[in-house]
Amino acid sequence: MNYGEWVLLQDRRGRNYLFRLKEGGSFDTQRGSLRHQQILEAGYGGSVATPQGEPFTVHRPTLEDYVLHMPREATPTYPKDAATIAFLLDLAPGMRVLEAGSGSGGLTLFLARAVGPGGQVWSYEWRERHQARARHNLQAFEDWHNVTWVLGDLAELEPPAQPFDGVALDLMEPWNVLPALTPALKPDRFVVCYLPNLTQVVALLEHLKAQALPYLHERTLEVIHREWDIRPPVAHPSFQQVGHTAFLVQLRRLAGN
Ligand code: SAM
Repeated sequence: MNYGEWVLLQDRRGRNYLFRLKEGGSFDTQRGSLRHQQILEAGYGGSVATPQGEPFTVHRPTLEDYVLHMPREATPTYPKDAATIAFLLDLAPGMRVLEAGSGSGGLTLFLARAVGPGGQVWSYEWRERHQARARHNLQAFEDWHNVTWVLGDLAELEPPAQPFDGVALDLMEPWNVLPALTPALKPDRFVVCYLPNLTQVVALLEHLKAQALPYLHERTLEVIHREWDIRPPVAHPSFQQVGHTAFLVQLRRLAGN
């Protein structure tokens, strides 16, 4: 563990605090301060306490922790959904994947990890500020040097020399970009659209039909995690749950245009 690295402190109620360790820095609470040096000496997995006796455990943030706490311009794809998108795209190390929009870089981080250093992520974003945020968030946490950032409208995509193994779309109107990206996707591979509203899912399926685009609608699903509060004799579903985030629509590209 070194200065400059991310750390996640967890208090006794399970609340998390994410920040970077700075030489001479301190973490201030209502029950006293912790010097960053103390946290560094405790190391990941260690424990620290303020002079007033408030305890914290010290952790290396997971990708989920980071995406939930990182600075944002646009709402990141929720981690449970981002992980499922990588699974629905059937990604493996070495593959090439296209995504839009980059937003805050949340989904980019998951895709970059899934395809690994031998793979490639092409991330499209038409807002400069969002692209800068996404790029910074990725570089600040984990950079496999496998992301190409493209500033522009995905609807104007020129077919690349090499087609992609998958496409992830987290934007409002995916039907506007599907005609341009279809020739860029290998046959029998997947597009996954992340859509908060069911009306968007219906509009997408209607557009596919109206535009006669070569896709099979494989499935539409929601990812539901139900967390439990288990502190015997208490054991029941947590009263605070993550509710609806979005629908995931998995489309399989058929051969032909
Ligand atoms: N998945 C991102 C993340 O995890 O941080 C969040 C994406 S955000 C909800 C949607 C982004 O898509 C916005 O930043 C928006 O500017 C961008 N966008 C929308 N339509 C686009 C298009 N046609 N081409 C490129 N970017 C687009």
